[in-house]
Amino acid sequence: MKKSMKAAIVLGVVAIVSAGILIAYQSANASYAESREEEARLEREQILEQKKTELMEKAEKLYQGYYYDEAISLLQSDPALITTATDDAITLKVNEIQQAKSSLVKYEGPVEHVFFHSLIIYPEQAFDNKGHPAQGYNMWMTTVSEFKKMLPELEKRGYVLYPLSEYIEADTENPGKIKLKDIYLPPGKIPLVISIDDVNYYDYMKPDGFANRLVLGDDGRVWTEVITPEGKTTLTRDGDVMPILDDYVDDHPGFSWKGAKGTMALTGYQGALGYRITDGLPQEAEWKQIVMKIADTMKANGWSFACHSYTHNGYFRDGTLTMKQIKYDTDRWIEKIAPYVGKTNIYISPFGVNFKKDDPRYRYLIDKGYQIYCPVGNGRRIAVNGDNIVMPRVNLDGYSMNRRATELETHYFNVSEILDPKRPALVIN
Ligand SMILES: [Zn+2]
Repeated sequence: MKKSMKAAIVLGVVAIVSAGILIAYQSANASYAESREEEARLEREQILEQKKTELMEKAEKLYQGYYYDEAISLLQSDPALITTATDDAITLKVNEIQQAKSSLVKYEGPVEHVFFHSLIIYPEQAFDNKGHPAQGYNMWMTTVSEFKKMLPELEKRGYVLYPLSEYIEADTENPGKIKLKDIYLPPGKIPLVISIDDVNYYDYMKPDGFANRLVLGDDGRVWTEVITPEGKTTLTRDGDVMPILDDYVDDHPGFSWKGAKGTMALTGYQGALGYRITDGLPQEAEWKQIVMKIADTMKANGWSFACHSYTHNGYFRDGTLTMKQIKYDTDRWIEKIAPYVGKTNIYISPFGVNFKKDDPRYRYLIDKGYQIYCPVGNGRRIAVNGDNIVMPRVNLDGYSMNRRATELETHYFNVSEILDPKRPALVIN
């Protein structure tokens, strides 16, 4: 064979092999590109799927808390997440929420408002008779363990925390007058108001196993500062009604209408929320700022404040209260406490005292802007008096659990499942 021919054959072979390699390379490259594309597509789908799951979870929590419109707008906020399929999860959920919203019914049942005092954290201290008499605590207070047991029972019975301020509205046809505002809830649900009296953390209670004061934590939540029987100061989530209810609603959004919690009733003669802001002490300016921050945080989280008189003086109870005294008391609260917890139209009366609607002492309160007046009673009906309403409240404490167990069982829970075994027997002379 001629050299030139050999060379041509070699060249030809090389060309064929090269071409083959090139084709193989190109096709490998093509399928590589395809699989890359497929991978990217899957990745995009996964991201969308995850976004969709997160969105659905957020919307579900809003929906459970009765924020229907908010849940629907959130679900519809990203059209890329909604498919045209009729069984698309978002489409189905939007329909479900619209259905729930249109099935709300006007509540016509009894008016349920229950109240507590600051909770007993350490019953062994409250009932040791070394500080304040154990009998008083045993009658008018509730323990942390009792309160925690009540919440799931109330929820099971259909109760939903409802804001006290939403019970009334201006009567547009009669200027200066108010009327009851309609309440719409899912069928079977019952609006419930919870209030807490004397959220002041008085000196006399300090050695008796109660929280020391409320504190705004670094996490932006309000905590209870507790001094343990060993003398250690700690921040806890269950030292009083407030953090317990906040956390409970967080876990059970269906127990609260749009995040409503409760109403905190404050006096003023030993400051507010555990801070002595009414005695002219050197730290007063700093404490006022703290009280304001705590109050703002609580209001942003569904809480409201009420005047519980300034002095809580015995003249409210024995009926000797004079015009001069009610003026002093009411004005002093407005001057010394309202600037820090905010103006309020709710008055929760000391000792649960009630007035006749035309009593000048009562009229003084109403004229100062208190449109919602809450004494103690189990009538479960609101009286509307033109420019104010009277809404009775039921105490859930040692007294009512011992003396009115049947009534409490009818409305709220079985007392035997709630009553703290650490309570001494209640003997009333
Ligand atoms: Zn009180």
